Amino acid sequence: MCDSRFADSAPSQQDARSEDSGSTQEASATEEASADRHPGEPSAVGDPHLGESPSLDRDPATGHPRPPRREFKARGSFVTRCAGCNLPELNCLCPYQAKADSRVQVWLITHPLEHHKPTNTGRLIADVLAPTRVFTWYRTTPDEKLLALLADERYAPFVVFPDDQPDYADRVVEVEAVRRVPRERIPVLILLDGTWRQARRIFRKSPYLERLPVLPLRTDRLTRYRLRKSASQAHLCTAEVAAELLRQSGEEDAASVLDDYFDVFNDSYAASRRYHKIETPSPAMRRLAARRG
Ligand SMILES: [Zn+2]
Repeated sequence: MCDSRFADSAPSQQDARSEDSGSTQEASATEEASADRHPGEPSAVGDPHLGESPSLDRDPATGHPRPPRREFKARGSFVTRCAGCNLPELNCLCPYQAKADSRVQVWLITHPLEHHKPTNTGRLIADVLAPTRVFTWYRTTPDEKLLALLADERYAPFVVFPDDQPDYADRVVEVEAVRRVPRERIPVLILLDGTWRQARRIFRKSPYLERLPVLPLRTDRLTRYRLRKSASQAHLCTAEVAAELLRQSGEEDAASVLDDYFDVFNDSYAASRRYHKIETPSPAMRRLAARRG
């Protein structure tokens, strides 16, 4: 059955472009198509920024060349940001970076336009779960390391995506399939990190995902994310999707830590936008601080 609440959403269902892009317009399909072209490829329109800033042109997560950095006037970009967590220093996240163990891993395939956004929540998963891997998606140049990992029998990957289209219905599985992965293999949740449209583009234009089982998220949970406008309360952001699927996969501890960490990120960022310093730690802050010892 199709969960209609999730069907029109996505693994990272933020259709509204974030305020932090500093503009209200949605990136056009043309912009997105251009952004997901590998920077080494020839461009029909040419790009004067290619080759600039050698220190910035490699993605530290993958070693891949980065797309040319777009002019990026973040709202509040004059605010001093912490080098550790990239949040405004007023309410820094670093004291709450707690780790958790999980048999289930998370790999993110992140759209190039999502990487530079400070409100991106995918990176929170990597802070909590050390084995998390982050790949930048380039439509015509798949990440070689990702391809090798997908071919590695030690892993049992699932691509998290709604089951709202009939053409891949035969690949749809439920979360019990993650629980049933034999102990000698490592279950992996592959999250497509971007707007709904970007996630769908990644799903549809990545042949190496076509043989993987598709895992839709079934939940009544509503989003707690306050940093971007969402079309619906039922659209969960990437960190929330991960936390919920970890919980449903039996990784209660990792899910709780990620939930707490997401709440602290959400509260801290929202407060900083109002120039408000949080003086009284929230319950989630206290739990994470205690866990760090
Ligand atoms: Zn920090």
